[in-house]
Amino acid sequence: MLRKFKANRLFNGSAFAPKDSVLITTAMGKILDIVPEVDAGDQIEILAGTLCPGFVNVHCHIELSHMLNMIPEHTGLVNFVQQVIQKRAALPELKQEAMRIAEAQLYNSGTVAIGDICNSADSIELKQKSKLYWKNFIEITGFVDSFAANRMAEMEAIKKSFTSKGLPAGIVPHAPYSVSKTLFGQINDATVGEIISIHNQETAAENELYETKTGAFIQFYNLLGIDVSNFSPTGKSSIKSWLPYFTKDQRIISVHNTCTSRNDLHNLSVSQKENITFCICPNANLYIENRLPEIPVFLAEKLNIVIGTDSLASNHTLNMYEEIKTIQKYFPGIAEENILRWATFGGASALGVADQFGNFEKGKQPAVVILQHGESKRIL
Ligand SMILES: [Zn+2]
Repeated sequence: MLRKFKANRLFNGSAFAPKDSVLITTAMGKILDIVPEVDAGDQIEILAGTLCPGFVNVHCHIELSHMLNMIPEHTGLVNFVQQVIQKRAALPELKQEAMRIAEAQLYNSGTVAIGDICNSADSIELKQKSKLYWKNFIEITGFVDSFAANRMAEMEAIKKSFTSKGLPAGIVPHAPYSVSKTLFGQINDATVGEIISIHNQETAAENELYETKTGAFIQFYNLLGIDVSNFSPTGKSSIKSWLPYFTKDQRIISVHNTCTSRNDLHNLSVSQKENITFCICPNANLYIENRLPEIPVFLAEKLNIVIGTDSLASNHTLNMYEEIKTIQKYFPGIAEENILRWATFGGASALGVADQFGNFEKGKQPAVVILQHGESKRIL
């Protein structure tokens, strides 16, 4: 049996299809064709709103789902990170239940694939049963150089617990303020040709750390008793300092970029512009720092842009459509087609799954989502 869908508009993953286009799929949702209504035959399901492929959420931390509403808004990143460290412990059953609820929200609101940051093996059980595609980024932290080898070994073991269950996983650095030079070097060696995800320039204090070794992070390290005597400032912004660590054909997903400047972006080489994807998490940025990246500058520089929700520790929902609406609200000049592309085909390309998801190309099963009355809903 075939399914045939027609709505007010049909977004195919890169652009709006001509008016009166009909999407034809198998009963399971495999894409067969997009044809003009006159050629589509009968039994067309007519919907109000916009049809689009399933969303790809490039940055999430499903294992923090139990932290919903635990951390107040607008406290700034340094304070936020401290609170995550203090408050993340919870009973295993509570974590599992929170992850199940969050996964259902992802599914129902139209997400089909996720780039998910993991600090533990907590989410394996959920992901083994999940109908969603999860690309697992096993995240390493360690700002003290001498801990690097131990940290690598610990996280390689967690990575193995994912891959041994058939779940795709790779090692990634947490952030420029939490990974030492030595650890960056070891991650570089361990990730030849892989996808790297890294939290980047989420706060102005991160640039200050690299430029002058001053500011809120120095106080943060003192508070945690972290010895930073080995850290030398580069005199450059954070992104200019850490990008050169990756030399082995990695593709990089730079997440947040709230304090990335026009100068940082303009000075990227042609190959860097091709290899880096900038993941914007607007609702988390508003939650934590109450500011947003200068998205029009990323567009003007013709950079790859995608969207993520971050975790429920810094967001009220994992619904990607809420991120799209926030971008539309704060940047009304950006074409809707661009934003929808970032949320679908752009995300699938960044996670290396554009052969399965992201657009209504024949043979793919990218999920079918309807955007209607300010909400998104998966219909197939
Ligand atoms: Zn994050």
